[in-house]
Amino acid sequence: NTPAPLLELDAVTVGYGAAPVLEALSLGIHEGQLVALLGANGAGKTTLLRTVAGQLRPSGGAVRFAGRPIDALPVEDRTRAGLALVPEGRSVVAELTVDENLRLGALRLPPRERRAATAAMYALFEPLARRRRAAGHELSGGERQMLALARALVARPRLLLLDEPSLGLAPLVVAELLGVLRETADRTGLTVLLAEQNAASALAIADRGIVLGLGEIVADRPASELAADPALRHAYLGF
Ligand code: ATP
Repeated sequence: NTPAPLLELDAVTVGYGAAPVLEALSLGIHEGQLVALLGANGAGKTTLLRTVAGQLRPSGGAVRFAGRPIDALPVEDRTRAGLALVPEGRSVVAELTVDENLRLGALRLPPRERRAATAAMYALFEPLARRRRAAGHELSGGERQMLALARALVARPRLLLLDEPSLGLAPLVVAELLGVLRETADRTGLTVLLAEQNAASALAIADRGIVLGLGEIVADRPASELAADPALRHAYLGF
């Protein structure tokens, strides 16, 4: 029998005021899947990620993680349970060095595991290894996004929620970043929910694509199938 999904949204309704952004939305994501969450600007991708992370409370429905309802859990407890959100905008501590940022991320691990976990991030993100003494504010956009990602990964989350990492980055940098993400998922079994406007890049590395349109799921299919569907590409994916 199939295992239960690692993440389950069950008829989730959530928004900011009277009108919901997502209405009775249900989906399940299995351990080890790399899922691209696509859809136009304003479709509700960020809203969905923030709901899973615990920053927004649904007005209806339930969210389960690893088989457990997490609706009542504050953000901090969700992080401890293995959920990590990398918000849009490459949040790193600008005044701290690359190394200090990574060590902050590693504080969630037992002390004797921190050094090895940090070293593993330098092996994965070579540009960061070369810049380990640079301050956050000295980094390029691509380096900052790598650091934001590495700072989340260093604590070995089970589910990574990644919001729009490609924003404002050159295509080559995007490819490198998403390549590392794919490699990490393959090697560690990390589960990823990747919100992207850049559908072509996201589908190139994803197992599955979910397209949001006006608060509901308009497509949920293997990534290669979605990328090859001209009608869907034209209507929702912009490539
Ligand atoms: P983007 O790529 O712009 O982040 P998105 O698909 O992530 O798009 P959301 O950011 O989830 O979309 O926004 C969904 C809807 O919710 C939009 O209509 C947006 O205007 C609205 N919205 C988002 N954040 C807020 C907020 N803090 N207060 C009120 N409305 C909001």
